[in-house]
Amino acid sequence: MGKAKRFRWECSGGHAGILAPSRLKLRDVRRFCFPCSTDAGELVERRAPALDKQRASRTTRAKDKRQEVNRRKAARRAAHFFFGGVCLRNELAILCSLDGVPNPFKIPTLQIRRARKMPRSCFGFARPRDHLIHLTVWPGAPLATILGTLAHELAHLLAHDEDPQDYDAGGRYVWHGEKFRWWLRTVLMNGYATDPRQLGILGAGVVDDVGLTGLAMAYDRSKVSR
Ligand SMILES: [Zn+2]
Ligand SMILES: [Zn+2]
Repeated sequence: MGKAKRFRWECSGGHAGILAPSRLKLRDVRRFCFPCSTDAGELVERRAPALDKQRASRTTRAKDKRQEVNRRKAARRAAHFFFGGVCLRNELAILCSLDGVPNPFKIPTLQIRRARKMPRSCFGFARPRDHLIHLTVWPGAPLATILGTLAHELAHLLAHDEDPQDYDAGGRYVWHGEKFRWWLRTVLMNGYATDPRQLGILGAGVVDDVGLTGLAMAYDRSKVSR
């Protein structure tokens, strides 16, 4: 059995120190300086400076590590909402505080799915029941497509908020009706100074290629003023 490493234990009164292991039992006499104790009238402990230093640096290291882990977690969370250098959650918050949008309007929950390639049909959806917007992004997706989809889905939530009972004769909720189109126009006009009618927003409220280019340009312009 190897000999346990020993440390110098000493008092603050300048009396002779001793060498002892790092862990001492509570009642081990080596923990105490008797001359100091006699003077003070109660037990005075010795300290092992090397051990104190070790413990302090261990605590600091643990704290540094914890901070680093938290920093990385926060960065991952933030990165989740970034696409093409734009924080989509931030963008959504801006759109929700536009002129014309009811005030206050709770910022919807934003879900982002990262697909490997462009989805065949659906770039996103809105779920009014949960006040939620879901976007799909993929490598190389045009920013304007993503922003256009964000505006589109937000318009769904705004239209639904205005009239949750907007059903057609067959009892189906009207997703892309008058109210939706009005809201999409309001969001695009006030958010990106972009009139969807000029930009070729299709009847169903889908932004076409021309619209997307315009939206991208409008987005760059609007960054200056926002
Ligand atoms: Zn002492
Ligand atoms: Zn839609």
